[in-house]
Amino acid sequence: MTFALHGLAVSPGIAIGHAHLVSHATMEVAQYQVRERDVEAELARFDAALTTVQTELVLLKTEAEASPGAAAELSAFVDLQSMFLADPLLVDAPRELIRARRCNAEWALVQQMEHLTDQFDEMEDAYLRERKQDIVQVVERILKVLLGKSRKITRRKGADDDDLIIVAHDLSPADTIQFKQLKIGGFVTDLGGATSHTAIVARSLAIPAVVGLHHARPMLRDDDLLIIDGTRGVLIVDPDARVLEEYRLRKSEMELERNKLKRLKSARAITLDDVEISLVANIELPQDIDKVKEVGAAGIGLFRTEFLFMNRDELPGEDEQFEAYRSVVKALPGKPVTIRTLDLGADKQARALRGAERMEPNPALGLRAIRYCLAEPQVFLAQLRAILRASQYGKIRMLIPMLAHAHEIEQSLEMIEQAKAQLRESRTKFDENIEVGGMIEIPAAALALGPFLKRLQFLSIGTNDLIQYTLAIDRTDEAVAHLYEPLHPAVLRLVALTIERSERAGLPVAVCGEMAGDASLTRLLLGMGLRQFSMHPSQLLEVKQQILRSDFSRLRAKVARLLRFDDAAQVREQLVSLDG
Ligand code: PEP
Ligand code: MG
Repeated sequence: MTFALHGLAVSPGIAIGHAHLVSHATMEVAQYQVRERDVEAELARFDAALTTVQTELVLLKTEAEASPGAAAELSAFVDLQSMFLADPLLVDAPRELIRARRCNAEWALVQQMEHLTDQFDEMEDAYLRERKQDIVQVVERILKVLLGKSRKITRRKGADDDDLIIVAHDLSPADTIQFKQLKIGGFVTDLGGATSHTAIVARSLAIPAVVGLHHARPMLRDDDLLIIDGTRGVLIVDPDARVLEEYRLRKSEMELERNKLKRLKSARAITLDDVEISLVANIELPQDIDKVKEVGAAGIGLFRTEFLFMNRDELPGEDEQFEAYRSVVKALPGKPVTIRTLDLGADKQARALRGAERMEPNPALGLRAIRYCLAEPQVFLAQLRAILRASQYGKIRMLIPMLAHAHEIEQSLEMIEQAKAQLRESRTKFDENIEVGGMIEIPAAALALGPFLKRLQFLSIGTNDLIQYTLAIDRTDEAVAHLYEPLHPAVLRLVALTIERSERAGLPVAVCGEMAGDASLTRLLLGMGLRQFSMHPSQLLEVKQQILRSDFSRLRAKVARLLRFDDAAQVREQLVSLDG
């Protein structure tokens, strides 16, 4: 039976294919029986996982106690988890299931967890009912260890290239980046927000995606025929022949449009009144360079280097990073390559990093990006040296994410000087005049721009986080996705203010958040005076088309008026007045 589900449109286009269900990372585990002679080994595997989690918790507790800022709740929370871990009710019953019924360890554990949580559900006391979550979390920890690594997404044998639609409860950016090798037709998830990094990776791959569908996964089966309408945020399940035909037609029309845009590849990005605009690309991995060249981007405005650190057990060493950065700059002779230093944390996690197992009370506000790097100087210095070493092969610029304080700028610059001194000592060449820029993605930075203008050579506005932090909306949470509003007057004023002040100070400024790649906002940003846009290669030609049709100076006057509105709905209504 045909039915449709509605979610958030995060990556435009149409995909038609068959469902490939991906298990929830922890809760849907394989269920099988081990051989009689393997029962002891299975028990040992279970016990070893318990010991590992126990060690993790002890470590976590020591760290919580050692750091003066750590909330007392964290320590109490760890105690509670340790208590459950030692509770025979949780750990003895699975042992019995392994022994008596030869269940694999994961399955045995999940069965007992379900048995216990059912009992918690029936409790009258709300406090006790909530403890159910603690059990689930400790079980998730054990399962993570039992399952080893983060899940690996693979294609089933026999599936056609464009015929695979991933259906998942949730996907992390680390999951999604694997799609680069897998030729996925599209994906849908129950959770997620429009500017989560998962959605960003989908856009960079130009694969249609819908997130925030709530209950799609439990309603679908492997191999169901699906249509993703990534432009409208709709998933159609089991379409009839007529609907299928209509979508096939729409899909080929869209491909035709895309092909037409290719004619703009070598056109200069210049407005009707002769203002030259620089259109540069965002990349996640060196292999994205082919797409960058395909659309004729003027360089790289944002290399999200943290993706080099994901899906692996060990950190990439300095040499490996150096090779990655060098390969990018050598592939674009004469063009600037802006390498952003590590922005791990929040939804971008790398298990290889020290402290990755630490549970943060609020990761988006936690030890993310430059905060992490300044806390882990050896990791930071290795990256800085790798970037500096690559700088002798072309024009590399360094970009520091998540700066808010003047002292963070100073500390970052000191670390760069330290890395330079180390290289000088070993007589390694690098660009002595490498430019260092800062991202403006925290409202505090946009409002207190002085130190940024004084100490840095360029700025790049990260609207994804700027919106998140201005409006207090977690960009990955579909429950508040409707409040994530790029056109909120507060956001627009912060962007406009940053551009205006940078312009007055003579400092180059770009926008590298998702707003820069949204062709419906090109004129708005031009009207704020923006001259550099950084976006996924898949969006670049559409933005260029808008630029070629725009009059820079006329837009400035119109946008100044628009910035006076106090309501995003009014701004949206007035956007059309910028056309023509
Ligand atoms: C941003 O915040 O707008 C940005 C470009 O950085 P990221 O999306 O990687 O956080
Ligand atoms: Mg950001």
